[in-house]
Amino acid sequence: MAKVFIGVGHGGADNGAVANGLKEDNLNLAIALACRDELARHDVTVGMSRTKDEADPLADEIKECNAFAPDYGVEIHNNAGGGDGVEIFHHYGGGKGKTLAQNVINEIVAIGQNSRGLKTKRNSDGRDYYGWIRQTTAPAILVECAFMDNKNDIAIIDTAAEQRQMGIAIAKGILKTLGIKWVAEKEPATANTKKLYRVQVGAYSERKNAEEMQKALKAAGFEGVIVN
Ligand SMILES: [Zn+2]
Repeated sequence: MAKVFIGVGHGGADNGAVANGLKEDNLNLAIALACRDELARHDVTVGMSRTKDEADPLADEIKECNAFAPDYGVEIHNNAGGGDGVEIFHHYGGGKGKTLAQNVINEIVAIGQNSRGLKTKRNSDGRDYYGWIRQTTAPAILVECAFMDNKNDIAIIDTAAEQRQMGIAIAKGILKTLGIKWVAEKEPATANTKKLYRVQVGAYSERKNAEEMQKALKAAGFEGVIVN
């Protein structure tokens, strides 16, 4: 069974970016929980670095991810500091992480976010800059969903429904990479879509015979409908 580990950026006293009344640690968590639920709905086994607002340093997240031994590791963040759009970091050598990053960014663009593209970042020693990518054993990506200080981005990330939509988009990209077909959630049954059980009392080639049966039903206290 496929396994995915979701790292939830920041938490506890470490709020990450703070802008427009949003705290990044809480925003990351809302998106991550939606992503987890969508993956779990498709029978993916999901591990998370945290499922509530608590301190969870990056070093611990990396340890937890490696202990979980997932197929992929996905770290969720949001940006600030003057930019507009989603960007996703992957291992500078490309590989499976880059494929995952491409599939995830495609799904985020599909919900209306603009893309700043896939990115790599290296230290002066040539290794990956982000510990999440450098020190995780599984192919890993770091998603910067949106800029919390950009009004275009805020418009697609500041409500619970939008955060859920972002989490589902990330999940869709992960599922595609895992080779799992995404299926839409079934709508709850309403009066209009409820299955109806119909009772048939006869079938006639002559309409008058059908009308006679309708009369007989009425006399017996039932309402009959003629269908042809
Ligand atoms: Zn962050």
